[in-house]
Amino acid sequence: MHSGYVDPLLKSQAMQLTKSVKLNDPCGQRLSSVGFTSTELLAVMAMIAILAGLLLPVLARAKSQARRVQCINNQRQLFLAWALYADDHDDRLVPNGHAPVTAFGQLCIKLWVTGDSHFFAPAFTNEDFLLDPHLAAFASYLQSAATFKCPEDRSLYRDPFPPFIESTRAKIRSYSLNCFLGWAVDPKELTPNYEVFLKTSDLVSPAKLFTFQDVHPDSICYPAFMVYMPEKMEGFFHYPSSLHNRCGILTFADGHAETHKWTDPRTMPPVSGSVLMHWDTEPDNADLTWIRARTTCRTPTPP
Ligand SMILES: [Zn+2]
Ligand SMILES: [Zn+2]
Repeated sequence: MHSGYVDPLLKSQAMQLTKSVKLNDPCGQRLSSVGFTSTELLAVMAMIAILAGLLLPVLARAKSQARRVQCINNQRQLFLAWALYADDHDDRLVPNGHAPVTAFGQLCIKLWVTGDSHFFAPAFTNEDFLLDPHLAAFASYLQSAATFKCPEDRSLYRDPFPPFIESTRAKIRSYSLNCFLGWAVDPKELTPNYEVFLKTSDLVSPAKLFTFQDVHPDSICYPAFMVYMPEKMEGFFHYPSSLHNRCGILTFADGHAETHKWTDPRTMPPVSGSVLMHWDTEPDNADLTWIRARTTCRTPTPP
């Protein structure tokens, strides 16, 4: 037999032995446990990905729930200011509607906050229109601009004139007050033959009258949330916000708050930054019917 010849069986046994010696220390423990093999690393990474997949939606839900609670808290504070104002003013509801500032810097009428059409730009970005006692009746009760802003609303003010430049400034207000509560400007702007409540003692079924609600960021303009009642037009003047997972948040004249899920896709146009029209017809919109039922009631006809 040639001296260099190695029996293949012997060679394979020797290789097995070498492998086993490499993998085991003198106490018989696996050396490979000191680090990760690529298979183990992949398994750990897969596990992390699965855990992240499970936890991230839970975290996102928790965050959106926190923003919803914050929005309810904001509206509760607005409601308290609204109730305190009436208490301090012989039961009269805080003036509501819309009004610009004149060219001489004077206010036509002091509403709960100052605001007007989309063309009255300062009211969208200048906090004085919320917090200055000369410009806002609520300024005596609320001194934090954050109270007026829904945490889901991240919209920026965009110039309504061509070339429609978007400013880098966030809009300062997300909420409006039911136009049939304390309406203080031209009554012809409201649908006739519906109650306009001017005192708290006049309120009929306060639990079914909304006070404040989140407004769609592309729709908000007046401090009043305008609602066309059936005889006026079949459509929204102001669109409600659906930023809370397709829900709106409203507070009512008895102080309770509701999170209401909208059902009609026409109620929830995506936020684009351009102004939503105030006269789009939307027949048979169940969400509009729901809001109307919580806005006012018909004026009783005299016997
Ligand atoms: Zn909100
Ligand atoms: Zn508008």
